[in-house]
Amino acid sequence: MPRRPIVGGNWKCNPVEVSKLDGLVANINACDTTDCDVYVCPSNLHVGIVYTKFKEGVWCTPQNCNFKGCGAFTGEMAADQMVDMGLKWCLIGHSERRGEFGLPTPPESSALLAAKCEYLYSKGMKCVYAIGEPLSIREKGIEAVLEYCVQQLKPFLPLMDAEKLVIAYEPVWSIGTGVTASPEQAQETHAALRKWIAENKDPATAEAIRIQYGGSATAANAPQLSACPDVDGFLVGGASLKSEFAEIVAAIANAKK
Ligand code: PEP
Repeated sequence: MPRRPIVGGNWKCNPVEVSKLDGLVANINACDTTDCDVYVCPSNLHVGIVYTKFKEGVWCTPQNCNFKGCGAFTGEMAADQMVDMGLKWCLIGHSERRGEFGLPTPPESSALLAAKCEYLYSKGMKCVYAIGEPLSIREKGIEAVLEYCVQQLKPFLPLMDAEKLVIAYEPVWSIGTGVTASPEQAQETHAALRKWIAENKDPATAEAIRIQYGGSATAANAPQLSACPDVDGFLVGGASLKSEFAEIVAAIANAKK
């Protein structure tokens, strides 16, 4: 069965002004979701303002959650609260939370992220799990990249369920840098990850699980990346704050038809 494409927009800690939110929501609602799942990750402060404003077929997806639930967890967000708000998906493991950019302290480990994913599942939620290597690893070649990403995937083996988990492969060197992985690099890495899942989980899960590419994806490079057979969508940062986001959704939807 073909994998349905999926594109996420990560607004990170943007915008500054609440007054800009309606415009950003309008960009997202302009996407054609007929042949592509779309999710958006507003900043923590803004989730509560915009989560009812997205059209059907667009999932408001927080950028983090804890692994315990509600209670004495200052500054945290609980899956329990997300469920009550009708939210279905949560993003975890973004490199900006794993400490790749110096924040937060201490960085989130893959084992902790697996605990978060398990908690999301226990509440009936689904999970986008971000992985990816820094430049020093990429420079050593594909074997080193695979070894690095496999360490991030290993704690998720028992949680690997194509219905509940989407993997976002985001090479750290391409996030917010304007340096996009080439289609060859993206395809090679996605195919290697899928092969590893086939060998270490099972072939059916590997075939069905969706792997997004993330890292300076734009309307200009999305068509070429979308042509890669193992690229099932995008996790988009900067361009998700612009009207070109809808073009990225259209590019992958058209490529996979
Ligand atoms: C991201 O935030 O996950 C991301 C990929 O950012 P950008 O598209 O800006 O590189």
